[in-house]
Amino acid sequence: MSVAAGPVAEPQETERQDAAPRGFQAPQGPDDGPSPEEIQVPVLENVDRAVTGLITGAPPLLLVLVGWQLWNRELHWRDIAIFLIMYVPVGLGVTVGFHRLLTHRSFRTSPWLRGLLGVLGTMAVEGPVISWVADHRKHHAYSDRFGDPHSPHVDHGGGWRGALRGLAHAHVGWLFNHSQRGARDRFAPDLVADPVIGFVDRTFVLWSLVGVAIPFGLGALIGGTVDAGLEGMLWGGAVRIFVLHHITYSINSLCHFFGRQRFETDDHSQNLSWLAPFSLGEAWHNNHHAFPTSAIHGMGRREVDFSGIVISALERAGLAWDVQRISPDRQAQKALTLRGAR
Ligand SMILES: [Zn+2]
Ligand SMILES: [Zn+2]
Repeated sequence: MSVAAGPVAEPQETERQDAAPRGFQAPQGPDDGPSPEEIQVPVLENVDRAVTGLITGAPPLLLVLVGWQLWNRELHWRDIAIFLIMYVPVGLGVTVGFHRLLTHRSFRTSPWLRGLLGVLGTMAVEGPVISWVADHRKHHAYSDRFGDPHSPHVDHGGGWRGALRGLAHAHVGWLFNHSQRGARDRFAPDLVADPVIGFVDRTFVLWSLVGVAIPFGLGALIGGTVDAGLEGMLWGGAVRIFVLHHITYSINSLCHFFGRQRFETDDHSQNLSWLAPFSLGEAWHNNHHAFPTSAIHGMGRREVDFSGIVISALERAGLAWDVQRISPDRQAQKALTLRGAR
């Protein structure tokens, strides 16, 4: 997957430095693995595993219920609408909020919008926001090397068994094996010191529950019955959490394994075009690893990036500023010219 040749515009260290937030010094060098203080194991490790198992396992079980529901009667348009009403804003909370704003500081915004994006992202139930950011910054600091919390390429063995083991670890296994999770104080000191994000982080359970209560309310309001509310909760809550989880996980697994590389990076990140619409633009993952601070991930004319469109719209409305973009010149310097790249 990695491409051995091609023009290298900047030294590799610059990419790692680029990935790190301002004021944060990422460890350097391929053999410089993480120190113990960079790793944070959850306080109640087994409780964490059990809760993660419940959150990851319950939605698929509820999908069986959905199948039964579909088999027995017509699926209501109401349920699909509630799914989308929840999926898009919560998804943007993760992509625009957790990822592009809070992890990479690719634009700036007011405290209330930071808080709102943090709350929406929290409703995805992918863990408290500061832990999410710490894990993701550690992923960029050690991409596909020892220390990466979720690389499909490190220590999984060779052959198809190793590939499957690696993909399983990158997709969901790393959530249970806590050996390389990012330490919050080390990787996200700026957010630990941020009162708005600190509040959103501490109230993780509350917002997760609100994210299930809203679709219940919507279903009950539109359908006029408690049953309609429960169906709304199933589609806008359980099914939405399940789908969004696995789209996010696929960025960590599939986008470091399948697809195409447009830019020279020292990792296995790939652009996976079919995943781009569902991931709201996050699947242009090779572009993202090449230019981590860019607010816009879709860099080609046909690379639709819904999250980037939203950030540009916020900018035009005066709600976002200092939006980081990569000039065509800088893109051309890092672009791969090998066959298979585009
Ligand atoms: Zn990545
Ligand atoms: Zn990133």
